[in-house]
Amino acid sequence: MKILVQKFGGTSVASLERIERCAKRVIDALKKGYKPVVVSSAMAGETDSLIELAKRVTGRPPEREMDMLLATGEQKAIALFAMTLNKLGYPAVSLCGWQVPIITDDVHTKARIRKVGTGKLLSLIEEGYIPVVAGFQGVTEGGEITTLGRGGSDTTAVALAAALGADCEINTDVPGVFTADPRVVPSARKISRISYEEMLELASLGAKVMQIRSVEFAAKFGVRIHVRSTFSEDEGTWIVPEEEVMEKVVVRGITMDTNETRFTIVRVPDKPGIAAEIFKALGDAHIVVDMIVQNVSHDGFTDMSFTVNKSEADKAHEIVAKIAKKVGAKEVVRDDRVAKISIVGIGMRSAYGVAGRMFEILAKNGINIKAISTSEIKISCLIDEKYAELAVRALHEEFIEEMEEFETINGNG
Ligand code: ADP
Ligand code: ASP
Ligand code: MG
Repeated sequence: MKILVQKFGGTSVASLERIERCAKRVIDALKKGYKPVVVSSAMAGETDSLIELAKRVTGRPPEREMDMLLATGEQKAIALFAMTLNKLGYPAVSLCGWQVPIITDDVHTKARIRKVGTGKLLSLIEEGYIPVVAGFQGVTEGGEITTLGRGGSDTTAVALAAALGADCEINTDVPGVFTADPRVVPSARKISRISYEEMLELASLGAKVMQIRSVEFAAKFGVRIHVRSTFSEDEGTWIVPEEEVMEKVVVRGITMDTNETRFTIVRVPDKPGIAAEIFKALGDAHIVVDMIVQNVSHDGFTDMSFTVNKSEADKAHEIVAKIAKKVGAKEVVRDDRVAKISIVGIGMRSAYGVAGRMFEILAKNGINIKAISTSEIKISCLIDEKYAELAVRALHEEFIEEMEEFETINGNG
């Protein structure tokens, strides 16, 4: 019995007509001999409007109640999906996260999956039903409903595939994972195979096509993921272990993330212990700090900058303002209009000159770099938000399109 987990994203289930198209994809899989397990997101826009509704009640809604509210989006979609399959003559049963059960920790609004029960799913399949599972939601050991963070249905799908020993199909509104967001770079290419490691970097640097945690999960349990379009039969992108990726390139993809805020603490006394004090306070408040830059010091003072996710910027601002005052810094400057542009590729481990080329391209386009961070397989630059799309296109041209030409000329393409 070969089980296939088929996940459908919000745009794919945005209307009853679209749900019917998705249902037909499930029936096709069944006819090919698979036992499908469906995972559905909420209909497009539903989660956003639920969040909006909550914000109209209060600026800071209790996170437990947020989960209670957001889980309804997926519950509605799975009921409609199962009804559609039944109408088409294929018995289906919808299940919320707690009914599977998908057990999570108790961190409301960004819970992590701990365990997935397979008994109920397997017996439904055995009895000839197609299970239609709600993405994005789970339940704590204590019976509280949780959600897995934005884009969390991807993680539900991969977790189910891992637990069931199945392959995982992510059906979405683009034909696969591209060398850059195809909505920003029209010449972006579909990648046929990508390693977990590269996909993980792309996802964490802004390519929202897969939720980061879903890729972490897949890498840990060796789940093979096929990302493809709901609206075409074409082969999409396979996310697989590194050994299975034949084509090794220096730069696999370019990403853009406009979800960060930069803070600069101006004229901080340059002495041991100050950085520790600032970043410890942020850490204690569970705020993840991304890029950090400390300028050269002048007459015993220095400027210190760092970035955090926009959703945590208000909280970070309060903390940093307090410490800045305490240590006698001049002021705290906040900049919400920044973008982080990154290039990612396993080939960067052994290539040289890549950073220089990246900075040169940005300079040629008159784009100033506000901060830089690197890892073995990525380089990120923080720039003014208004140049983000220009930067991505220029870097794509340099690192993806030109390289392709180079490889073709050399007979490797
Ligand atoms: P779904 O609702 O199916 O989960 P998402 O909106 O979460 O879909 O993710 C798909 C979107 O991700 C695409 O519409 C595309 O704009 C965006 N995206 C960003 N970077 C990339 C990339 N490198 N390749 C493919 N899509 C990308
Ligand atoms: N509905 C949730 C969201 O919009 C989860 C998902 O679509 O993956 O983030
Ligand atoms: Mg998504």
